[in-house]
Amino acid sequence: MNVASGGFFRARGIGTLALLLTVVLPVQTHAQSSETTAIVYPEASTIDHLPTLAPTTRFVDHALSPPPTASIQAGRGIFNIDAFLQICPQDDLTYVAIRTDFTIRRNGTIVDAIPCKAPIFTAMGSADITDELLVAQTLRVIYYLDRDHPGSLPWTPNTFYDWLKGQIGGINIDDTATTSFCCTVIGGRRYIHTRAQTFGPPFPVSFLMGIPFISGRIALYGHEARHVDGFPHSSCCGVTNGCDGKYDVTNLSPYGMQYWIFAAFLDGTFDVGIACLDSKRQDEFAGDMARAANLYPSLFCSSPPPALLPVRLPPTQCGRRRAVRH
Ligand SMILES: [Zn+2]
Repeated sequence: MNVASGGFFRARGIGTLALLLTVVLPVQTHAQSSETTAIVYPEASTIDHLPTLAPTTRFVDHALSPPPTASIQAGRGIFNIDAFLQICPQDDLTYVAIRTDFTIRRNGTIVDAIPCKAPIFTAMGSADITDELLVAQTLRVIYYLDRDHPGSLPWTPNTFYDWLKGQIGGINIDDTATTSFCCTVIGGRRYIHTRAQTFGPPFPVSFLMGIPFISGRIALYGHEARHVDGFPHSSCCGVTNGCDGKYDVTNLSPYGMQYWIFAAFLDGTFDVGIACLDSKRQDEFAGDMARAANLYPSLFCSSPPPALLPVRLPPTQCGRRRAVRH
């Protein structure tokens, strides 16, 4: 199952999902968890949600406009996500800190330099994209995500980045895993295993390294890192180990985290500069985030969250970030 085959994006019925379950068994309860003890929760393939996001070349029109360099160097957040994602992680001043805070491994081996060429959407081909680059770029977005308005997450008083850093020590790209899962321990640090992807045509770089895919990774990390606190899945919705009990924003479960994260992009809680882009791009973004969020209500046994409409952010949202602080 990989991106290139299109299988990653194929809508699946519940019966199919049940056949795609991971065989990982729980070896430790969260009550006994520690940084040096493995915790593994069974996962269904429903965690890798992005099946309705069709690949397009739509982001190319927005390439490098406006130039994002100033906002990155000031460490003040993301003013234009499409431009931001064209910068290579190693060209960002935060990169050394990110690589120190999170160890990136592939099949257990520490990843060294990660090849990247900017501007990513045009200087790289889709076959040049790697899981390592995707991980680094996802962590870079997380670094800035809510840094200028901490306290907006219902599950922690910390920023997303600092919360994630407290939950895990890194990401291990796993070439043999059939789904992503949490967590195992390597060298005394807890790792999320992410199922390796195969990149390449027909998916354009602007999709693979654009916000639909990156937001999906952020939601996935949120899901898996939440498991550090427990939250084993149920099968009540008809997907074995692919359901959560109820949606409770005061106590978000792993699937609740994924819904909440997409909703936060949609309603501007995670402000990535969308309201300042042209109306066509705003509509695309709203559609992508709403479709992604709406994959989750059916995975709850009771009290599901509401389906979301692809509503554009109000014009007043543009520039709001600049008024926050600094
Ligand atoms: Zn899970």
